[in-house]
Amino acid sequence: MARYLVTGGAGFIGSHLCESFLSQGHEVLCMDNYSTGAQENIAPFLKNPRFRFIDHNVSRYIELQEPLDFILHFASPASPVDYLELPIPTLKVGALGTHNTLGLAKAKDAVFLLASTSEVYGDPLVRPQSEDYWGNVNPIGPRGVYDEAKRYAEAMTMAYHRYHGLKTRIVRIFNTYGPRMRLRDGRVVPNFIMQALKGEPLTVYGEGQQTRSFQYVDDLVAGLNKLLHADYHLPVNIGNPNEMTVLEFAKKIIEITGSKSTIIYKPLPEDDPQVRQPDISRAKAILDWEPKVNLAVGLKKTIEYFRSKLTE
Ligand code: UDP
Repeated sequence: MARYLVTGGAGFIGSHLCESFLSQGHEVLCMDNYSTGAQENIAPFLKNPRFRFIDHNVSRYIELQEPLDFILHFASPASPVDYLELPIPTLKVGALGTHNTLGLAKAKDAVFLLASTSEVYGDPLVRPQSEDYWGNVNPIGPRGVYDEAKRYAEAMTMAYHRYHGLKTRIVRIFNTYGPRMRLRDGRVVPNFIMQALKGEPLTVYGEGQQTRSFQYVDDLVAGLNKLLHADYHLPVNIGNPNEMTVLEFAKKIIEITGSKSTIIYKPLPEDDPQVRQPDISRAKAILDWEPKVNLAVGLKKTIEYFRSKLTE
């Protein structure tokens, strides 16, 4: 049995990680300040004696008595709408929060995993994006608060690895969806599903020709479990290479929900990446990992979750 600390553990991905480690028989400390996380995401774990919730903002100094084997730093707003509303907390959790959790990992001699993002590639000029690509980021644009915070977090993680010999991992997570996403976090998956379920028009930004590729959360969690135990410190893309335009995605949601919704067009947000598709050769080679969940199957589970929340 090992002891895990998951920062942002009450968030969408964080709560799935807590669930995965608990189901493997481990002890889990879940740290969150409910900035964008939610208590209901972790409610089922609270009665488990191997689970403990700590209400704390990781941008402040962290004090923990118990030994730790693994620290996964997932605390951060992650939806463009959220980080536009919380620009300074987003910068702080990527910078100060990463520094604090790295310091804790060093003190505990724990393996440290940083949740980084495809946003480090900005509005990429190459497609697909491999880990060797340095990105095309506007540091002073509205998304810069997230992109640069994560780029700094990667630099800090590499410095702790090189200077202190810390065992570190960096995952670059591409668009991920599944149950426990916030209904109103403003991202394309909850927006389109909610709009389709309510029979409202789906709001496609721009002409909908920008591309994304969507991975189901279970695939991500499987990849992260492998990465934690791989002796590999360079960044690894984890995502689904099945790329489509946002307009195609809107039509897919209408089809799967059986909705009568129409599509309307809204202005494209500033610096919205025009393409995004992971090159997952590294994950395949090093982790023997690739996504397994078909989009229609993952979307059906996610739609069921949103439906149940709507009728609550
Ligand atoms: N998008 C859209 N309609 C929405 C929400 C998002 O067309 O109601 C588009 C957005 O412009 C972007 C893509 O969907 O091109 C994915 O947006 P999301 O907010 O999910 O995150 P991103 O991938 O940009 O980080």
